[in-house]
Amino acid sequence: MIPAQFDYQAPATIEEAISLLAGDPDGAKVLAGGHSLIPAMKLRLAQPQLLVDIARIKSLSYIREEGDQILIGATTTHYQLESSDLLKNICPLLPACAANIGDVQVRNKGTIGGSLAHSDPAGDWPAAALALRAELVMQGPNGERTVPADSFFIELMTTDIQPGEILREIRIKKPSGRFGHAYQKVPHPASGYAVVGVAVHLGLNADGSCAAAGIGVTGVSTKAFRPQAVEAALVGSNLDDQTIAAAVAKVCDGVNLTTDVYASGDYRRHLAEVHTRRAIQKAKSV
Ligand SMILES: Cc1cc2nc3c(=O)[nH]c(=O)nc-3n(C[C@H](O)[C@H](O)[C@H](O)COP(=O)(O)OP(=O)(O)OC[C@H]3O[C@@H](n4cnc5c(N)ncnc54)[C@H](O)[C@@H]3O)c2cc1C
Repeated sequence: MIPAQFDYQAPATIEEAISLLAGDPDGAKVLAGGHSLIPAMKLRLAQPQLLVDIARIKSLSYIREEGDQILIGATTTHYQLESSDLLKNICPLLPACAANIGDVQVRNKGTIGGSLAHSDPAGDWPAAALALRAELVMQGPNGERTVPADSFFIELMTTDIQPGEILREIRIKKPSGRFGHAYQKVPHPASGYAVVGVAVHLGLNADGSCAAAGIGVTGVSTKAFRPQAVEAALVGSNLDDQTIAAAVAKVCDGVNLTTDVYASGDYRRHLAEVHTRRAIQKAKSV
């Protein structure tokens, strides 16, 4: 399939990119890795008149520590996150999640910002962003604003990014003290997308009991979500098998489950329960 005709601009700065978006509010779209947008254009599901390529803005690609935070530029690729020694040391859930995305070509081109902005219901990054209570920094014609991951994902492929805004940075509080993590995924055999993906980050007390729990689930519904009832059931417990089993039974409570040609809603619920339990078991023994 061939996309409809479009113009292309590759600005050198984010300010220039924002001004290009402002110049064509209905027809312009941000292009990052292109691994979701270009297929959508080829299928004519998206027909932007102008692509504003932000992948060439060097200042948008970085992973660094600042105070008690980890800052990640929006065009940082999945592979850069997967292979980051800094992240392997201070926030290993991020490389673990990145390693599960698609194949090597997808990981080399696709970006964390593009994945979060696209909010594919089977994308992996939304689960990790929710589990780690990430904050998303948007920049637009009216300046900058920060949104917690909890209120960023609104509905199917819909986020809180406003017209003319660019997701510029992802901020994550550096995990401290004793903690464990795991990313569990059942990939679709053709695309690699998550049929179910579960990200778990546990804060642990010296005796192994649970001080804090962050869980993000993807693939199961129209958007990724945090099963707060599961988190609440774990915090304060000693993470014994009975507590974990009772907690994970609540993972899909109140969630509208997706049924498609590959998996029924009931099967997805089953997978979510099994893989949330496995992820918690792994995270508590790290
Ligand atoms: C074969 C294949 C397999 C895949 N498997 C997986 C998988 O297993 N797991 C997974 O999570 N993903 C998977 N993907 C998707 C991949 O991770 C994409 O890279 C990702 O979803 C989108 O990132 P991108 O940088 O390519 O964004 P693009 O495709 O360039 O953009 C996607 C959307 O986000 C918008 N956008 C991009 N960046 C920004 C920004 N900074 N601010 C505002 N808006 C922005 C664009 O306008 C567009 O609407 C797969 C893709 C392919 C082709």
